Amino acid sequence: MIRKDELIEKAYACGFGDIGFTTVEPFDFQKALLQERQEAYEWVSKWGLDLIAGTDPKQIFPMAKTIIVLMEIYFKEAFPQSMEKYFGRCYLDDDRMAKDRLSQRVKTFRAFLRDNGIDSKVPFNLPHRLAAARAGMGNFGKNCLFYSNKVVRQGSWVLPIAVVVDHEFSPGVPTLEMGCPDWCKNACIVTCPTGALIGPRKIDPTRCISYLTYFGNGITPVALREPMGLWVYGCDHCQNVCPRNAPWLAKELPLNLKVAGMADDFQLNKLLQMDNAYFNSRIWPHMFYMSDKDIWRWKMNVARAMGNSRDPEYIPELLAAFRSNYDERVLGMLAWAIGRIGGSKAKAILNDILPESNALVQKEIVFALDNF
Ligand code: SF4
Ligand code: SF4
Repeated sequence: MIRKDELIEKAYACGFGDIGFTTVEPFDFQKALLQERQEAYEWVSKWGLDLIAGTDPKQIFPMAKTIIVLMEIYFKEAFPQSMEKYFGRCYLDDDRMAKDRLSQRVKTFRAFLRDNGIDSKVPFNLPHRLAAARAGMGNFGKNCLFYSNKVVRQGSWVLPIAVVVDHEFSPGVPTLEMGCPDWCKNACIVTCPTGALIGPRKIDPTRCISYLTYFGNGITPVALREPMGLWVYGCDHCQNVCPRNAPWLAKELPLNLKVAGMADDFQLNKLLQMDNAYFNSRIWPHMFYMSDKDIWRWKMNVARAMGNSRDPEYIPELLAAFRSNYDERVLGMLAWAIGRIGGSKAKAILNDILPESNALVQKEIVFALDNF
């Protein structure tokens, strides 16, 4: 029978930053919370993830005896500034679809378990962060994120991965409390641009920019467009303002060359004009929450970010996109973005495109003109 210290050694050899162990007792508190807030999490079940079932590891894997938590660090190297202002860091070097690196390392670890007579499962619906806290690997911030007690200078740039196994290993000492210092006056909650953080460790996921950028329905409501700022996919605001993350953010990190090599493909101009072939070959393998059927949402997000940049240099791009798009959600946002940038040129363009537009787009144009 393999020893715990051998598993720990293997996890580090696979490139994980930390490893912990906890029991397979049901996460009853989480279950009650999910039952109470079913509406807020309805969108997850549309994705085929039953979060309530995930609170009982034995329901997923009847032979379960231990949860092993592997700690992935997704921000080990610096990302180009031109990317981290538009995209959440956890998506920048996410290669789950490319089937290399992270997924390969999880596979290697599970193969090691299998070779040592241990069966395992990696259930996506299990509360991975809670499992990490119960394993004593860190604690929570009021922004609902998990802070490691070991890596990234005790910051939140980590992704716990729970592996349920059919062998018993001694569990760590749970650290389920919040670890925020008293002197931080809730910077994350107070400054969340869309008011998604409704209390300590309480989020309305449907108001979170991350959710809105990849799952939001229809054209983004007017009231959220300015608060969503420059974010195109994901949002790191509540991590960037958190003093617990300041030590890691201050560290000089080597540049992530893989991501730097992608920066050209992710320029806003290119995203705004991209077709399905471009999206499927260059964008989707890295950011895969939306398929090419949702390319309109990408373009709508990019148009909103360009508008919020207030940079007049984007006006020709926005107009060219207006002339070549047919989706009224994109067209509406393009009109809004031109209006948000403002100026006499923008006003003339909006007056120009008004007569040729359909009713919904006209409404957006009139709204934009009214705000001059
Ligand atoms: S990710 Fe952004 S929108 Fe979501 S809770 Fe944090 S600050 Fe608010
Ligand atoms: S910003 Fe303050 S309250 Fe929010 S998670 Fe960080 S330390 Fe905690």
